[in-house]
Amino acid sequence: MPSTRTNLRRKLKSASRTVRGARKVLGALLSTDHPLLAHIIPMRRCNLACKYCNEYDDVSKPVPLETMFRRVDKLAELRTSVITISGGEPLLHPELDEIIERVRHNGMVAGMITNGYLIVPERIQRLNRAGLEWLQISIDNVNPDDVSKKSLKVLDKKLQMLAEHADFHVNINSVVGGGVCNPQDALTIGKRALELGFSSTIGIIHDGQGQLQPLADEERRVYHEMKALEKRSFTRINSFQDNIALGRPNQWRCRAGGRYLYICEDGLVHYCSQQRGYPAIPLEKYTVDDIRREYLTEKSCAPHCTVSCVHQVSIVDGWRDPQQPAPMAESRTSELVQIE
Ligand code: SF4
Ligand code: SF4
Repeated sequence: MPSTRTNLRRKLKSASRTVRGARKVLGALLSTDHPLLAHIIPMRRCNLACKYCNEYDDVSKPVPLETMFRRVDKLAELRTSVITISGGEPLLHPELDEIIERVRHNGMVAGMITNGYLIVPERIQRLNRAGLEWLQISIDNVNPDDVSKKSLKVLDKKLQMLAEHADFHVNINSVVGGGVCNPQDALTIGKRALELGFSSTIGIIHDGQGQLQPLADEERRVYHEMKALEKRSFTRINSFQDNIALGRPNQWRCRAGGRYLYICEDGLVHYCSQQRGYPAIPLEKYTVDDIRREYLTEKSCAPHCTVSCVHQVSIVDGWRDPQQPAPMAESRTSELVQIE
C-alpha cells in the first residue's frame, strides 16, 4: 500500500495534470496547425521479442542525448502538446531521465510506453523526479508463451512496485487478436490492473505484417466484457475498436503527419509505426506547411487502422476540415501499406 504522503502527492500531481490537460485541449480546439501528440523513439533495441511486433531490433544503439534534445526542442518549437517515449524498450536508454526532463522543461506532457521488465523501485523514483506524467504497460497474457513474454505472471511484482511508488498515472493495456492464445487472459489482466488502482484498456493487435485478423467469437466476447471495465473516458475515445472487432471499416479522418507525428530513431517524421516511410521528412526540416498539408491529406489505410493513439488524437478534429487524397504527382500515399 502506498503511504499517505505518496497518496497526497499523487492527488496533487493528478489535479495539476487535469488542469494542464484542459489547457491543451482548449489549445487544440483553437488551432489545427500544431501536433497534439508525437511519439519519439530513443532506442529501437528491445530486451524482448514479441512475435507480432514489427517495432524492435536487438542491435541498435541508444540515440545520443544531444540528438534527442534537439528533437525534443524542435517538437516544442512546432508547439507539440504531448510526447510519448517508446521503442524498442525506452528504459534501455541510459539517459532516459534527461530526455523526460527536457520534455517537461519545454512545457510538454511526458508519457512513456514500456514492457515493464526493467522497473524497480529506484527506477520508479528516478522517473518521478524526472517528471514523467503517465506510463503504459501492455500485458499480453497471464503466462509467458511463444508469442509474448509480457505476462502478468512475470510482471505482477513490477505492477505492485508501481502501485507503491509511482507518482505518475499508470495504464495497463491488455490485448486480443494477433495470435494471443487465451483471450480470457485479457480479463484477468484488466481486473488486476483495476485492483491495483490503475486504469485499464484493451487493444486489438495486428500480426507481424501489420495486418488485422478478424476476432473470433470468444475474443469478441472478452473484448466487450473488457470494454465494460474500461473507464468511461477511455471507452468513448476507443469506440472505433467496436467496428474493428466486428471486422467493419471505420469512417474517420486520420490526422497523422499533422496532429500526430511518429519520429523514428533516425529522426524522420512518419505517419505512424505501421506506415514508416511516409512522408519520411527529417524532423529538423518539418514545417507548419508540412503539418497543414498532412492534416488535410486522406490516408487510404484509414478504414481498417488499429493505431489507437492516432484515432484518439484525430477525434479532436473529426468534426471539421474534410480531407482530400494527395495529388498523385506530389505524394506516395498510394503506396501505403493497406490494412485488410
Ligand atoms: S516489448 Fe514491445 S517493443 Fe519489445 S518486442 Fe514486445 S511489443 Fe515489441
Ligand atoms: S490510418 Fe492508421 S495506419 Fe494509416 S497513417 Fe493513419 S494511423 Fe497510420
